[in-house]
Amino acid sequence: MERPVTEMERSTLDHSPLRKGGGAVRVGILGAGQLGRMLGLAAVRMGVQVRFLDRAQSGATEGIGETMIGDWSDPELLTRFVDGCDVITTENEWAPAGAVESALRGREETRCRMFPASASLDLIADKGTQKQVLVSKNIATAPFELVASGDEAVAALGRLGGAAMLKRRRGSYDGYGNAAAHSAEEARAGCIALHGEDGLLLEAWVPFERELSVLVVRGRDGEIETYPVTTTEQRDHRCHATEVPSGCAPSVEAQATAIARQVVEAFDLVGLTAVELFMTPDGGLLVNEVAPRPHNTGHYTIEGCVTSQFENHLRAVLGLPIGGTSLRSRCAVMVNVLGHREGTADVHALAEAVRSSDVAIHLYGKRQVRPKRKMGHVTCLGNDLKSVRRIAEDTAEKLKL
Ligand code: ATP
Ligand code: MG
Repeated sequence: MERPVTEMERSTLDHSPLRKGGGAVRVGILGAGQLGRMLGLAAVRMGVQVRFLDRAQSGATEGIGETMIGDWSDPELLTRFVDGCDVITTENEWAPAGAVESALRGREETRCRMFPASASLDLIADKGTQKQVLVSKNIATAPFELVASGDEAVAALGRLGGAAMLKRRRGSYDGYGNAAAHSAEEARAGCIALHGEDGLLLEAWVPFERELSVLVVRGRDGEIETYPVTTTEQRDHRCHATEVPSGCAPSVEAQATAIARQVVEAFDLVGLTAVELFMTPDGGLLVNEVAPRPHNTGHYTIEGCVTSQFENHLRAVLGLPIGGTSLRSRCAVMVNVLGHREGTADVHALAEAVRSSDVAIHLYGKRQVRPKRKMGHVTCLGNDLKSVRRIAEDTAEKLKL
């Protein structure tokens, strides 16, 4: 028997574009990389049409809905992109959300809106303002200073205890905008290497015991759900693997979850957000950074949870009730498949990898391989974390595309 619709769900549905007089619903997604691809696949499963807009074609969204390529800050292109969409969202925090909102203002009759809103994304896209918001809300994060020159960085390094991570304020991902600074020389060299128009921040080095990630999904009406806490392992500044359960004490998990909820409220985010945390040896927690979109550390949810991070992001931005976030098995491990060379992708390795029937293989359809480029991932579920991890690692290792 179907359960009755609750009051909360009824009011949520009143905000949903699904109410508009029948017909297909279309989601516009800024960005057409692997996160867009997996959002698009979730949309297709839900019977929702999808349109992507990106600056270049990677091949990741080929065969899924419609992909528009061009200068995504061009008002004329944005007007065509939003035309016929019921909601707009993004796979990355640097998308021109403000320009999208301007394009939507001229057509208020459509009720189409952008989630998360540009006001939220703007604060997060700049790691400097992101950290300032965290501090203003009393959310623990590593001490930092904004710096604009080698001299300023050296002075700040002294005040921060002599060991720090230099970070580009905008546009960095997978560690591409970071440089460790454990001496004045490294601080100066890092400033030269990372120098750009956007400024830098110097963050005190955190001698963390492990890194955690908490996925939070928040609806248009403020309903919030969280996923199980994951332990994440970075190699060379890049996500290598995630493991659930996290292995942390229940009190640490509860604290991490509470902090993540606080972060999402602080930035007034709608949709899926990943909050990356450092756990220090004494069990203390510091927010590393906030990703206002589906995240690499949540890929395991596709097979591992009742509702994937991608489906829940779509549900949230569409104003639909949020789906269950619990685990479907005792353990889940995700391992990334990175590029090992420069050239055209070769999927022949797939034949060897699929021999392992316990693993879900995801390849992103990118045509070009580059060393360290994220080309896919694998997820393994089971009862014993060690063996699940081994199977996932072995399979990812075989996938040299
Ligand atoms: P991603 O896109 O992979 O999330 P990013 O480029 O935005 O990464 P960060 O998350 O800031 O970069 O840093 C990448 C990794 O570098 C972290 O996951 C952590 O392993 C390490 N790191 C970052 N900041 C610090 C710090 N203050 N102290 C020690 N290690 C750090
Ligand atoms: Mg990070």
